[in-house]
Amino acid sequence: MEVIVADITTLDVEAIVNAANSGLRGGGGVDGAIHRAAGPGLLEECRALGGCPTGEVRVTGGHGLRARWVIHAVGPVWSGGEAGEPALLAACYANALDAARDLGAASLAFPAISTGVYGYPPDQAARIAVETVAAGLRDGDGPHVIFCCFSESDAEHHRAALEAL
Ligand code: ADP
Repeated sequence: MEVIVADITTLDVEAIVNAANSGLRGGGGVDGAIHRAAGPGLLEECRALGGCPTGEVRVTGGHGLRARWVIHAVGPVWSGGEAGEPALLAACYANALDAARDLGAASLAFPAISTGVYGYPPDQAARIAVETVAAGLRDGDGPHVIFCCFSESDAEHHRAALEAL
């Protein structure tokens, strides 16, 4: 596992995770950036999938991205932490890691799911991200995982969570 600060659309990895919404219709934030970089073929492929429930993932091609695959994960909207948000966020990371394994992806990059418009406290989200991926990788072989943060403070949260492991 590795923590970097970067625009996830620029990474030379086999799979990237998108922080999608349940309609898989594109949007703002990292979702918008991924769709802009991938081109209109991505939205077309997403439309055919008919949405995705919170906590689950759907796989598409990478289209104009360097990544071969985009794993669309729908994170929970933060509403105080008592509405199942931690389990739903953990499910995003676990399901995306499983999907990457099924694809045979050698490398996988995650954005900080739910920590933008969806309002999840970034320190708590980073802990769930790192702990869930670490637990998933303990089961055996897995991809090289990059936590692709968009700010230095977010990277600090992920590094702290890694050190706490
Ligand atoms: P959500 O709706 O799941 O909260 P957002 O896209 O609003 O998703 O934010 C999720 C995280 O992605 C935030 O930490 C945001 O700063 C970050 N982010 C936004 N654009 C990019 C990008 N191009 N690459 C990586 N991370 C990004």
